[in-house]
Amino acid sequence: MANEPVETARAREALARHGRSLFARGYSCGTSGNLSVRLGDGGYLMTPTNVSLGNLDPGALSRLDARGDHVDGPPPTKEAWLHLAMYRVRSQDRAVVHLHSTYATALSCRTDRPSEDMLPALTPYVVMRVGRVALVPYGRPGDQSLAATIEQLGAVHRAVLLANHGPVIAGSDLDAAVSAAEELEETARLLFILEGYAHRQLTETQIDEVRRAFKV
Ligand SMILES: [Zn+2]
Repeated sequence: MANEPVETARAREALARHGRSLFARGYSCGTSGNLSVRLGDGGYLMTPTNVSLGNLDPGALSRLDARGDHVDGPPPTKEAWLHLAMYRVRSQDRAVVHLHSTYATALSCRTDRPSEDMLPALTPYVVMRVGRVALVPYGRPGDQSLAATIEQLGAVHRAVLLANHGPVIAGSDLDAAVSAAEELEETARLLFILEGYAHRQLTETQIDEVRRAFKV
């Protein structure tokens, strides 16, 4: 960590700060969930395996090189491959958040939503921050054969939902990725709260209007 660029030191602090905040607000339980940032040299900082997001030590994060090989710090999350699949196809993005948050995961189990649009546009904010969310078919933990599907969907969707597992969300920086993850979770929650009630969703015209106005 000595002689690290200021950017890396800041990324370490930001990962620990966001991890603590997500954990404190119930977005991640136990040691579930992982966060990563792409650094200026093309390498990555990631949360380590078997560590709670609530208890991240900025000095004990995993560093990976541009190829995704572990080069420093403790071993990275076993779900590093999810992050790397998103980064491979989203050159514009510099952070990825993966959670097992309750309502998004509940949504990932539902079979009554279109797989290319799992989360309805209940508010303009979910359109701005998250966009359309695509479903990645179920795979057992550790099965990396889904990486190709994640790449395919990640190329056009900022956020994907792993069936019976949870969301993976990319952002231009960590603040944006975390904010999108929160928006996805809260919108999924709204969807369940509205279950059984007649309700309004944004129309395609209203969605297009938001996209044009906010350039998303
Ligand atoms: Zn997971």
